[in-house]
Amino acid sequence: MPSKDHLHTLKRVLGSKEEYICMDPDCDYRVLKRYMVNKRALCPICAEPFVIRNPIRLAQPHCDACTKGSNKKQLKKVITKIVVG
Ligand SMILES: [Zn+2]
Ligand SMILES: [Zn+2]
Repeated sequence: MPSKDHLHTLKRVLGSKEEYICMDPDCDYRVLKRYMVNKRALCPICAEPFVIRNPIRLAQPHCDACTKGSNKKQLKKVITKIVVG
């Protein structure tokens, strides 16, 4: 099955500092951190497309609007959900 044509929602591989994977269950896209910079991805919080900028510090890169904190509560919830599984 070919992977869907979409913008990837990226998440750091557990235990890795460099490798990120797409969170879509139908997509097996993998990318190294240095190749993600200036690429478009989907924000895991607001589901809007955004361009990934350096430096990438987050396990789950998200858009500027969500970084600036207006969605902070929501972000916490998303992260908790991922950690718990
Ligand atoms: Zn994907
Ligand atoms: Zn966002």
